This record gives sequence, structure tokens and C-alpha cells, in this order.
Amino acid sequence: MSKFAKASQPDAQGHFGPYGGRYVPETLMHPLMELEEEYFRAQHDPEFQRELSYYLKEFVGRPTPLYFAERLTRELGGAKIYLKREDLLHTGAHKINNAMGQILLAKRMGKTRIIAETGAGQHGVATATVSAMFGFKCVVYMGAVDCERQALNVYRMKMLGAEVVPVHAGQKTLKEAVNEAMRDWVTNIRGTHYILGTAYGSHPYPMMVRNFQRVIGDEARAQILQQEKRLPDLLIACVGGGSNAIGLFYPFLEDSSVKMIGVEAGGEGIIPEKHAARFHGGSLGVLQGTRSYILQDEYGQIQATHSVSAGLDYAAVGPEHAWLHDQKRVEYSYATDTDALMAFQRLAQLEGIIPALEPAHAVAEVIVRVPRMSREQIVIVNLSGRGDKDVAQVAAKIKL
Ligand SMILES: *Cc1c(COP(=O)(O)O)cnc(C)c1O
Repeated sequence: MSKFAKASQPDAQGHFGPYGGRYVPETLMHPLMELEEEYFRAQHDPEFQRELSYYLKEFVGRPTPLYFAERLTRELGGAKIYLKREDLLHTGAHKINNAMGQILLAKRMGKTRIIAETGAGQHGVATATVSAMFGFKCVVYMGAVDCERQALNVYRMKMLGAEVVPVHAGQKTLKEAVNEAMRDWVTNIRGTHYILGTAYGSHPYPMMVRNFQRVIGDEARAQILQQEKRLPDLLIACVGGGSNAIGLFYPFLEDSSVKMIGVEAGGEGIIPEKHAARFHGGSLGVLQGTRSYILQDEYGQIQATHSVSAGLDYAAVGPEHAWLHDQKRVEYSYATDTDALMAFQRLAQLEGIIPALEPAHAVAEVIVRVPRMSREQIVIVNLSGRGDKDVAQVAAKIKL
């Protein structure tokens, strides 16, 4: 194994180099360790893996196609572009890969109640969906501002039988929703499992969520080898907490010929409080259970963030990405709101696919990079979700 693959396994306390770990109150240490133990047992249990594969195939809709974007490729005149179609999954985004893995784990642990946090509502909908399917009680914490911005997803969650709790503290967005979910977990630890939605938080979450999302990269690797008889030259994915990106990247980390770019939200430009590009203005800090790159002021107070895409609008990034950044294994760039909106329209009109605003940031990077590449090269873009949820927001910004 190369040094990347090995070092990308966290140590026993969940550190990726200087990042990650467990920064939680005493009362959460025990449930985190219990979760870690049960996860390792499940990971090596063929019966658990069989059950997970079954539901991923029959309910979630895997495998997703690796689709050659012929018109976008011709238009940009460079490398061949393939889209990993996570937008075709049940509930419309990659989030359900992880939600399904974790609900099966909760079932195994004898839990009866599920809690989750959500920003745009995609993770909340995925969690409400798997909870309904297995008959769990489900409570989703969501910032009051997000509840208003994403009213349709609030309604979807309620329709699925979940209780949605609006959080009125602070900026009333994702960060405050995570705080409330952690408070709930401390109080109701016995019967409750917390389904965290991205490759973030205390160990074992970043590693566990990555392992539930690596199915994206495992499939893409097999598909490109079958279709092109060789590995891709470049992988591109958007980075919020980092789960869809690490899910695609992880199975290629040992392949040194494969370059990778993670795209963060540049918002209105790299000005404090106007973006969420943690690698362009962030610094080392601790937030919500882990150590990573964080957008903070000189006193260590968490800065406000902005992005047109709620799913990328968070002040911290997953610890494995921080480590891969420092190792220079993955390059991290950003796309602004304007770049993402242009890419959103371009993909819709050239390929007949309306992407979510999050992966529209990845498509914006494709539009910049691909024309500088040769026609023999191959790029895979993770199309992490579909854009139905964003249509009203885009309509307010773009006149057609
Ligand atoms: C939530 C979300 C993201 C961002 O989360 P990651 O954990 O960084 O993947 C990206 N795309 C879509 C469609 C999402 O719903």
C-alpha cells in the first residue's frame, strides 16, 4: 500500500495526522466508543454487508451510472467528461448511502429512536426515509432560517413521519442544528442513535461515513476500467463536510496518476463571512467534536459563512480532507455563487440534467479545467444530487 492509503486510516483515537479525534463532553465518550466497536463488528460481518448491499440495490437504486457527457465534452474541447450519477438515487442525493448504512447499524445496536441534523434538508429527508422504512421514531434538528428557505424539504420529512425541530439559536442554520442534535444525544443516549450526515464530527463518524460513501468511488473505478480500459486522470467533487468527495476519492488514493480536486463554496468571493472555503481563509481549530480547518476570527469565534448552496455552507471541513490537503494529495479550489449558477444552467442545457447547486460547483471547476486538458484525458465528476430542491431559489436569481 502507498503511504496515502495507509496514513488515510485514522489512528485508534480517530486522528488523520493532526486532525480529527474526539472533542466531546465526558457523557458522549461512551456512546462514541460503543458505536465504534459495533461499527467494526458490522464491517467484518458478512451478514451486515449482505443486508446493506441488498437495500442499496433494491431500495436506494445502486449502482448509479457513470455517464459520458458527450455534448459538454465536445463544447469544452478537452478531456472526456464522465458524470457519476448520484442524482439518480432515491431521495435525490448521495446522502442516503450513509443514512442506509447507519440505520442498519442502529437496528443492530437495538436502538429505537433516530436523531439527525440537516442544513438544506437533504440529509434530513434521507434519514426520515430510512427511519420510516424500518419503523424508527425520527427527530430532525434544523435551523429556523433553513426551515424557511427549504420549506419543501421540511414538508417531505413530516410526510415521512419525522418530527422536525426548528432551532432558533445563533445564526439559526446548520451549526446550531448540530449543537441541538448533540444535546439531544447526551440526554437520550440509551435508545437513540445519531445519524450524522457527512464525513465530519468525532471518531468514528468521519471514517464510518467515508466507508459508507466509498461505494461511489468503488463503482466509478470498476465502471471506468470497463468503459475506457484505464483509470481517469482527474476526479472532481464539491466539498461541504466532505462525504461525497471522499466517497469518490478514497478508492483512488493509492493511484498516484489520478489527480483530485475538491471544490468549496466561494460564495461572493474570499471575503470574511461571504464564503465557506475553509482552505482559503480557514485555520486550525476545534468545532463540534473534531479538529480541522475552520473559518474563525482572531478570537477563535466561528465566523458566519455564505453560499448559494446550503449543503456547502458550513464553517468547517472533514478532518480527512484537512489531512489530504496538507499532504498535497488533493487540491482544493473554490467556485463562487455566480460560477455555480452558470454551471447549473450549462449542464441543464447541454446534457438535460439539472444538478443540485452543490455539484454545480464541481461542474464549474470542470468548465475551468477541462479546456486545458488533452482529448485523450479522462475526468470523472461526482454529480452528488439533483436540482429539483434548488429550482425556486435559482428562479429568483436567473430570469429565463
Ligand atoms: C449535502 C450535500 C452535499 C455536501 O455534503 P458533502 O458531505 O460534502 O458531500 C453535496 N451535494 C449534495 C447534493 C448534498 O445534498
